[in-house]
Amino acid sequence: MPDHRFDLHTHTTFSDGTTTPEENAALARAEGLAGLALTDHDTTEGWARMEAACARQGLGFIPGLEFSTELPGTGASVHILGYWVDPEDADLVAECGRLRDERRRRAEAILVLLADLGAPVASECVTAIAGDAPVGRPHIAQAMVEAGLVADLDEAFERYLADHGPAWVPKHALAPERGVELIVAAGGAAVLAHPGSSLGPWTVAAADGSVGSSVEAEASAGHGRMPQAEVEGLLDRLCAAGLAGLEVEHPSHDEPVARHWREVAVRRDLLATGCSDFHGARKPVRMGAGTTSAGVVQSLRARAAR
Ligand code: AMP
Ligand code: ZN
Ligand code: FE
Ligand code: FE
Repeated sequence: MPDHRFDLHTHTTFSDGTTTPEENAALARAEGLAGLALTDHDTTEGWARMEAACARQGLGFIPGLEFSTELPGTGASVHILGYWVDPEDADLVAECGRLRDERRRRAEAILVLLADLGAPVASECVTAIAGDAPVGRPHIAQAMVEAGLVADLDEAFERYLADHGPAWVPKHALAPERGVELIVAAGGAAVLAHPGSSLGPWTVAAADGSVGSSVEAEASAGHGRMPQAEVEGLLDRLCAAGLAGLEVEHPSHDEPVARHWREVAVRRDLLATGCSDFHGARKPVRMGAGTTSAGVVQSLRARAAR
């Protein structure tokens, strides 16, 4: 049994996961975890049930959420995790509400584009899948599968919904440093989620077929590069805003990418976390596929209290 490890990034049906808090707690227990963080997108609504479920399973519960922010000028989506925030903080509540409204508006705009592209999806179907959760592209992708328009979620993203794809609609988002400020002001600890998937270095296949990572590599979506100076400038701003950690171990990071970000964490005195970013059936990853030690969790907690 792994000694006291925590999965610091999981989703449920309270956002775009397919499992309930109770199911996540049971899975975490089965994986021998000491506890887990609930980090649904733009909401803290699932906390009460997750906390109760963790208590029943004898697990530690870390309350969290995941904000989508956007790097101005690039359109790059940068996700920030906030742990132990005050769920009643007025600015935080206002921003979550704004993001959820914006998600509804965007979903309708995406459905208009899909209809124009000959892939019509009824708004009611998306609503039936998302329920009360902040609606996200994975819900729309699921509706497309159920309508027989695509074979699976990957195809829905690849052909239509991916960033800058034919049915992609941008949504209001804070600048990344504002997201960190908001979390810190609400008493939380902020961690930059899956930096490799937002900022690179992206894994590229070389002409000879070998696979490697390059800071200057083109994003797989083919919409530009993230020059190193820009990444360092962003990190400067995030650290000044009070960033506490970097998510080093994430399913989207291969070993060279994880090593790159582990070095960045050391260089910038940031904590290095690990997670699965579990989404139930919507992502092929198991609960506990990445974890964080109890010691790092404790250090993170201490940074939140600062
Ligand atoms: P949204 O919150 O609506 O912008 O959707 C973002 C979510 O969609 C992410 O958190 C991922 O879970 C998922 N996602 C983004 N890109 C892809 C992709 N290419 N394939 C599958 N899922 C994706
Ligand atoms: Zn998600
Ligand atoms: Fe994310
Ligand atoms: Fe996530």
